[in-house]
Amino acid sequence: MRNAVLDGREFEQIQILRDRPSEAVAVVVVHDTRLGPAFGGIRRHAYRTFDEGLEDALRLAEAMSWKCALAGVKGGGAKTVIFDSEELDRVRAYELIGAYVEEMGGRYYTGPDVGTEEADLESVARKTQYVARAVEEGPGPLGEPTARGVLAGVRAVAKRLDFSELEGLDVVVQGLGAVGARLVRDLVAEGAKVRVTDVAQDRVKKAVEEHGVESIEPGEAAQAKCDVFCPCAFGGIVHDISLSSLGARAIVGSANNVLASPEHGDVLYSRGILYAPDFVVNAGALIHGATFHLEGKAPAPERIDQIGDVVGDLLDEAHATGIPPERLAVQRARRMIETSQSEPFLPRKGTDAN
Ligand code: NAD
Repeated sequence: MRNAVLDGREFEQIQILRDRPSEAVAVVVVHDTRLGPAFGGIRRHAYRTFDEGLEDALRLAEAMSWKCALAGVKGGGAKTVIFDSEELDRVRAYELIGAYVEEMGGRYYTGPDVGTEEADLESVARKTQYVARAVEEGPGPLGEPTARGVLAGVRAVAKRLDFSELEGLDVVVQGLGAVGARLVRDLVAEGAKVRVTDVAQDRVKKAVEEHGVESIEPGEAAQAKCDVFCPCAFGGIVHDISLSSLGARAIVGSANNVLASPEHGDVLYSRGILYAPDFVVNAGALIHGATFHLEGKAPAPERIDQIGDVVGDLLDEAHATGIPPERLAVQRARRMIETSQSEPFLPRKGTDAN
């Protein structure tokens, strides 16, 4: 389906995949490839309805387009969702997606997302070359570039909170996984005063022992008084109920969809809480993976640090115009795609996306 209009939003392609014997169902959405081939991982989740899964794929694919544009990546947005269930034949489901991605001939380059593990990507990779994996010949683990991007975002925000450097900045990091653990390491190295939280106690213990940070209870993170709150666990942190008790002066994190809705970003703005849009801040993995795919090598670290420049720019423009940063970021990304005057990316037969 090309140029489908759904709720006023346009998507280049929406494909439902169904595997007859196993009944596996997945949806592949390509939002926009006018800047280049589409990038977007595979999310496996037990959606309650088909529409819920479709909406998730549409929203995430769109956000990937904005992420590419603002990160200066010559690519567009896509996403695949798998409808999870106890009966799901996981291997077949991921192979099904791999086969379809291969058929697309380089128009779509996929990878991990929530619910997709390395073993699943192995199933995808049996069927397609267009998949990012943390293997030696691939782009490697993506937590490191993502954490570097978040750190760049924190630096940009700290400046706007009148800190010339991170020394003494009071930061709360929620989630000590692939991104959060590395972020804590780097914040501490730059002299920030860090408190951490995670539902996995072993991860908290490790961070406390290795970096001498303090820990707080998971339920206290969003309310803790601090300069910067870094959500690096899950999205939807800023919602109707949490809004009234948020304790931070600024929010900068890797979690996708930190705001439950754009309107929540408007409220943050009206309260003077600085918000660095998540799809700008967490673009390190995309920059790393896409550069590897498009240029065959990892990007220079400074390329990822530019995330800080974009965050700083958006915050300054928001201050000057009265438009909240998340809305500015989307406007800016849309404009970049519209003015590119390019056609959707269609690889020539027999070649790959390069
Ligand atoms: P991860 O799964 O490695 O780590 C997440 C951590 O959050 C885990 O340690 C988990 O125990 C913890 N957690 C879960 N629920 C929690 C709660 N209620 N309170 C506190 N901690 C909780 O994930 P990750 O790769 O570090 O990614 C973190 C976030 O950033 C995710 O939302 C992910 O989608 C997003 N993201 C990651 C990347 C990347 O490169 N890894 C890129 C873009 C976005």
